[in-house]
Amino acid sequence: MAQYDYDLITIGGGSGGVRASRISASYGARVALIESGDLGGTCVNVGCIPKKLFSYAAHAASDFADARGFGWSVTGAQFDWKTLLANKDREITRLNGIYAKVLQDAGVKVITGRARVVDAHTVAIGEQMLSAAHLLIATGGHAVKPDIPGAELGITSDQAFHLDALPRRVVVIGGGYIAVEFASIFNGLGVATTLLHRRTQLLRGFDEDLGKVLAEELAQHGITLALNETPAGLARDGDGLRVLLGSGRSISTDLVLFATGRLPNVAGLGLVEAGVKLAKNGAVQVDDFYCSSVPSIHAIGDVIDRVQLTPVALAEGMALARTLFKNDPAKLDYANIPTAVFSHPHIGSVGLSEAKAREKHGAVDIYRTRFRPLKTTLSGSAERVFMKLVVARDSGRVLGAHMVGAEAGEIIQGLAVALNCGATKAQFDATLGIHPTTAEEFVTLRNKD
Ligand code: NDP
Repeated sequence: MAQYDYDLITIGGGSGGVRASRISASYGARVALIESGDLGGTCVNVGCIPKKLFSYAAHAASDFADARGFGWSVTGAQFDWKTLLANKDREITRLNGIYAKVLQDAGVKVITGRARVVDAHTVAIGEQMLSAAHLLIATGGHAVKPDIPGAELGITSDQAFHLDALPRRVVVIGGGYIAVEFASIFNGLGVATTLLHRRTQLLRGFDEDLGKVLAEELAQHGITLALNETPAGLARDGDGLRVLLGSGRSISTDLVLFATGRLPNVAGLGLVEAGVKLAKNGAVQVDDFYCSSVPSIHAIGDVIDRVQLTPVALAEGMALARTLFKNDPAKLDYANIPTAVFSHPHIGSVGLSEAKAREKHGAVDIYRTRFRPLKTTLSGSAERVFMKLVVARDSGRVLGAHMVGAEAGEIIQGLAVALNCGATKAQFDATLGIHPTTAEEFVTLRNKD
């Protein structure tokens, strides 16, 4: 391999790229990582981490309200957006530094700059040329706005993390993860929030009940839902904006956030010229071992557009490192990927939706419950928890576990282990509950639909 400058050159210092580089170096590979922005990628800089910090801030409002029923009088509580931004930025800077240190300690050479693939083994960073036995494309994705007049007047989640001030009113467009999370954040922080979605059902791809229940809960929390409405354009309206809808209606607002999906970052990378096949939406096409149509060029994470989740990119990075430098070809199992949506209330989900389970397994039994958790008996909150198990009728195996409610992600993470072990409903039933918790309901669901 000494004919090349490195054994691996990674382009992109996000979750997947950093993990693949670090683990490859631990197996003895000589690795360079090229990043043009801050280390940590979308998750650390404009995704999971700052979003969850904002979500905590938004939740504090309902915590204050809930506290009253427990005897607390909370007066004079004030929210300061600038303080939240400054504290969030400080934490992100700390994490950027940790990523740099982790790479340095692993012996990975970090190069700042924008890389372009020249050929199967060569990368250019400006005038500098570097070669490697293997190239890894881990450049992530970017938020996209729909092609409608005035779209430039709206922002994406990238800008939402750096707003100078909170608006009085916001329209969030979309019905996926980012839309429901940001609608919940703005609403919790006191912004009059409208969630505009082109379907009646939120969270396409999730179990249908989750979208339905979430819509009810969001409305109950004060979010205005404009469902089954397409955005047709944006226009200035005095000091504010007007969202024009396909139905002919319009909504006036101060800020529009497009949460209408993300596309792979491949522009200017020279991939097509190097012979790398891309899908229609730009995603790098790879095989089960993350190898592109050029055998020495690999890709992982959001740029391959399989599952746009940080833990998936991390696992893909680990698998690739093992395949390339440990002589241990590793395939990732994409079944049972647990996920959480940090809307208010949270959603947690693992395994198959009811619809997918029926499609794959035929007859299924459905267990569901919706109830007021203990805390609400004193807090007075109207929030209700929803839980659902999808069970294969023939084997009794639990195929899916889904929840809307506080800390749903924390609860579903544990159930994901059970589902990965092939747990049956009988084994759920034989597990003792922890009382009094919300989670115990998952082991006491007795009534089939
Ligand atoms: P999603 O693909 O999840 O959702 C995009 C939404 O925008 C969909 O509801 C879609 O509607 C709608 N949409 C798309 N195009 C248009 C259009 N032209 N006009 C109106 N509506 C439109 O993307 P997100 O941007 O929410 O998130 C991207 C990915 O990031 C997610 O898939 C997820 O993997 C990841 N993510 C994960 C998080 C987590 O783990 N908690 C948090 C945030 C993001 P339709 O359903 O009709 O297609």
